[in-house]
Amino acid sequence: MKKKFETRVIHEGQIPEKEFGSISKPIYQTSTFKQNDFAEYIYDYSRAGNPTRTDLETNIASLEEGTGSAMYASGMAAISATLTLLKSGEHIISNYNVYGGAFRLIDKILSNMGIQVSWVDTSSIDQIESALKNNTRMILIETPTNPMMQLADIKAVSEFSKSNNLISVVDNTFMSPYFQRPLTLGADLVVHSTTKYINGHSDVIGGVVVSKNESLLEQLHFIQMSVGAVPSPFDCWLTQRSIKTLALRMKAHNKNAMLIARELENNTKVDRIYYPGLESHPQHDLAKKQQLDPDGNPAFGGMISIELSNIEKARKFVKNLKIFILAESLGGVESLVCHPASMTHASLPEEVRSKIGLSDGLVRLSVGVEHVDDLLKDINSALSKI
Ligand SMILES: *Cc1c(COP(=O)(O)O)cnc(C)c1O
Repeated sequence: MKKKFETRVIHEGQIPEKEFGSISKPIYQTSTFKQNDFAEYIYDYSRAGNPTRTDLETNIASLEEGTGSAMYASGMAAISATLTLLKSGEHIISNYNVYGGAFRLIDKILSNMGIQVSWVDTSSIDQIESALKNNTRMILIETPTNPMMQLADIKAVSEFSKSNNLISVVDNTFMSPYFQRPLTLGADLVVHSTTKYINGHSDVIGGVVVSKNESLLEQLHFIQMSVGAVPSPFDCWLTQRSIKTLALRMKAHNKNAMLIARELENNTKVDRIYYPGLESHPQHDLAKKQQLDPDGNPAFGGMISIELSNIEKARKFVKNLKIFILAESLGGVESLVCHPASMTHASLPEEVRSKIGLSDGLVRLSVGVEHVDDLLKDINSALSKI
């Protein structure tokens, strides 16, 4: 019988090394490999493949219930590899609240190469359907979105995608495979910025695409090797070491964020809070249905966005925080705070920002795994000063 997530995350791809029995597998920090005869080898060159990378790909594929995965040098390299599956003249449907970097890649680079796009609200199948064209090949969604925490129904999108012969892609960075496994809901591809929860220690940039479709996996490995946006063996090793605590970390992120969200909901300084774990979230029922830990318990992750009316209040709040650090990125053990309008989402056009409600007063919290009492004290004290 298949082992449980908490066991696989530690052991999958981590068979102790043969020569000395080292429990922590050594890093294959090499660019090339000795061949026994002409073209007789297991690995030939580390851009094409490396044992440390393969181990991590095996591990993550197992966590996402895929049959394989391809690691890339960043989350953006993973998304860009996915979009490279398309040909010039083809069309993609995505959410206008997709990750800012993905928006920029499609809007500023792929559009020059003949890839067409329709930006819609992917929480609505009707909107997706009305954007469908004869040349549509792919749907790219993110759920929950960053930073508005808007959900898309993965199962419904995947079914729509299947019945129209499209490739469905889910950016699962915010939930991690511990809390959401899109392939089990019918998605064709899952992408992650492994920089975030999967590595979880704010010290490696990386990305991955997972699937159980052998033909797509073969193409993704071909793109990985041909384009060359591969992670170093050392980065793969660090990520492999960090992923072992993914289940423990995600539980702690989720627990802390839930407690903080409940308290913020009652703070009059906060105009609005976006967290799928609150009953007040418009898609709370969907969150309870599709965001599940491996035992089937609903989970909502560690990301919270709050509306503080205007940029002056947002700035004052951030300046008065002592534990939450002002920085881009998310999903690390340490709590971070970010001002999306000027930081992560500065590349979104003003009209798109206002359309999705991403105002200048919006602040995003990446709740870490510190003691929740200290985090609450920090937030409450900073709020009391605005
Ligand atoms: C950070 C992030 C990315 C991009 O990943 P990088 O590792 O920074 O290239 C893509 N999607 C989401 C949801 C992210 O948060």
